[in-house]
Amino acid sequence: MFCYQCSQTVRGVGCTNHGVCGKNDTVTKLQDNLLFALKGISAYNYHVKELGIKDDEVDEFLTKGLYSTLTNVNFDIDNLVGLGLKTGEVNLKVMKMLKEAHIANYGEPTPVEVKVGAQEGPGILVTGHDLKALEELLKQCEGAGVKVYTHSEMLPAHGYPELNKYECLVGQLGGAWIDQKKLFAKYNVAILGTTNCVLPLKKNMLIGYLL
Ligand code: SF4
Repeated sequence: MFCYQCSQTVRGVGCTNHGVCGKNDTVTKLQDNLLFALKGISAYNYHVKELGIKDDEVDEFLTKGLYSTLTNVNFDIDNLVGLGLKTGEVNLKVMKMLKEAHIANYGEPTPVEVKVGAQEGPGILVTGHDLKALEELLKQCEGAGVKVYTHSEMLPAHGYPELNKYECLVGQLGGAWIDQKKLFAKYNVAILGTTNCVLPLKKNMLIGYLL
């Protein structure tokens, strides 16, 4: 096991054989899995809230799940397994809410043709998944002579009528997200990072990042 969650951790580095607090390897793994899942759900729950939808059950579960990993007083494995199973349910609920929020705000997505490659003139490349951030950028770039490109997994944004209506949304510069470093270095455009898949940048690169 490895845990360095609190100040009691062995030699200030980490508990590896067993926890000073009594935590065991199984509890550590269940808590780590729970934390990773809660972080992912929280990210998409944030996007849902940006689009005007809030769900108390989701918020309460996120708080309860996080608290169960912080207190160091309840190492009940059955409880943690139950929270893990509930996490799957809440995850599906949040993704459904996000889909509905996207459609409510930007219309039912339909297939459209998307130009691939850079065009002449100044541009901004948007990476991530945050359609609200893209929308705010499009509003500001429309009529300003700045072209906006989606990157990689932001491609589906073009299918939403209320985003595709902006003339400044001109195309896609993308490929697999793992090619970010090569792609970002290739095009002389500003880059806006909106969510959680941005790789560490090369030394001389700067990226605007919306949290
Ligand atoms: S929570 Fe327990 S296992 Fe983790 S670092 Fe603290 S004492 Fe060690």
